[in-house]
Amino acid sequence: MNVPTGYDYVVSIGRQGDTAAPRGDLLECLCLENGNLPIFECVHTKANQALSNAYRWAAAREHKSSYANACKVYIEAFELNREYEPTNPLRADITQLLYIVANLQYWRGDEAKEGKAALKQYIQEAQIKVYN
Ligand SMILES: [Zn+2]
Repeated sequence: MNVPTGYDYVVSIGRQGDTAAPRGDLLECLCLENGNLPIFECVHTKANQALSNAYRWAAAREHKSSYANACKVYIEAFELNREYEPTNPLRADITQLLYIVANLQYWRGDEAKEGKAALKQYIQEAQIKVYN
């Protein structure tokens, strides 16, 4: 394993390199299921964009920050994690998103602020769907 500088405990899992970035439609759009028509740029679209942006941040800093490294690993393992909840993949997504958001505390700037808000709103809507 080749670690350039700084953080020495970089963890890797799942897909690596160019194919590891999250699919743009990784998170399910919940508009219809919440009784709304899908709208252009709904929070679910924004949450998917936020995952892509967070992944870019995490991949750039994984050797310098344990938070960034953990965030990257959780995003890379997103689809794998669904296999543990085959009858309720949205519940698996909630868990994974909570880990991801918890590790985004040092992601800063406007893009980060909007992205974290979108992910938190997605978690809230998903929790309503799964637990109510
Ligand atoms: Zn939606």
